[in-house]
Amino acid sequence: SASILKVENIAKTYGSSLRAVDGVSFDIKERETLALVGESGCGKSTVARLVLGLTKLTAGRIEFDQANISQLSQRQLRSVRRELQFVFQDPYSSLDPRMTAGSIVTEPMVVHGMISGPKQRQTIAGQLLEAVGLSARHIGQRPRQFSGGQRQRLGIIRAFALSPKLIVADEPVSALDVSIRSQVLNILQDLQEEKGTAYLFISHDMPTVRHIADRVAVMYLGKIMEIAPKAKFFQEPHHPYSQALLSAVPAAHPARRKKRILLPGDPPSPAAVPAGCRFHPRCPMAKDICKTTEPPLQSVGDGHSAACHFAGPWPIKFKELAGAML
Ligand code: SF4
Ligand code: MG
Repeated sequence: SASILKVENIAKTYGSSLRAVDGVSFDIKERETLALVGESGCGKSTVARLVLGLTKLTAGRIEFDQANISQLSQRQLRSVRRELQFVFQDPYSSLDPRMTAGSIVTEPMVVHGMISGPKQRQTIAGQLLEAVGLSARHIGQRPRQFSGGQRQRLGIIRAFALSPKLIVADEPVSALDVSIRSQVLNILQDLQEEKGTAYLFISHDMPTVRHIADRVAVMYLGKIMEIAPKAKFFQEPHHPYSQALLSAVPAAHPARRKKRILLPGDPPSPAAVPAGCRFHPRCPMAKDICKTTEPPLQSVGDGHSAACHFAGPWPIKFKELAGAML
């Protein structure tokens, strides 16, 4: 099917040396979920903000629904908003504490002139609340009267109220208790199915990614290191960084348990991006060429690309990694 979002070589720099996003390209098809993963500081939230037009691009191009949205004014963005919504991590700070639940969930429709009066607003508010397992009796309540999970449901149905084509979700379940995460993820999936929405889903949590993604893109220091269909990514990651990230995820089945690959060195800083392969100071596989020559993101299989001079499937590389590290 067609792409709803095309991101072409986008960059965001601050000052002369801080490269938060350093040449990122990907696309998302209609109804698809692309998970963008990586450690904090890797630039994934900045990508989310660039796509939403909340931060200005330094370079590159973003196409949404076949229109260039790279440099829109706030007013132009408002009309795009109808089809391009967001859910953020923190439902506490993203909901206005003075508004009632009914006003919160219907506000986007009011802004876009889709509700004609208070009576209709009341009816629609009840329907929206029911769609996320709340009910009409919550209409008059304020955010502080809801639990964290309920608040995130308000944020989610507010984002879905206009049936957008794409939702950018930045860590939407990370602030929630582990016990209710899958409930909220199921709500996100059910609404996606019903409305035909695509997700750019930002997360650092691999179990969450495994639950929700169709494809996975891994970021490190502002660049994509690997992008692959979900099953490929989890079964056969080709980039040493992806392999290290996945080795840290506890496996349910003991036979599948892998040795954890511990990465040496400091957490990365986007103000001091290493030469050559930016992962080389921490990579157990690094060779001389890695210090001088940046590996391009290149195809290693169907819909699968990795940015590593020695990209290879897990079983071979893992033995070397394990030998080098443990
Ligand atoms: Fe490691 Fe070299 Fe591959 Fe970079 S290019 S990930 S340093 S092996
Ligand atoms: Mg973040």
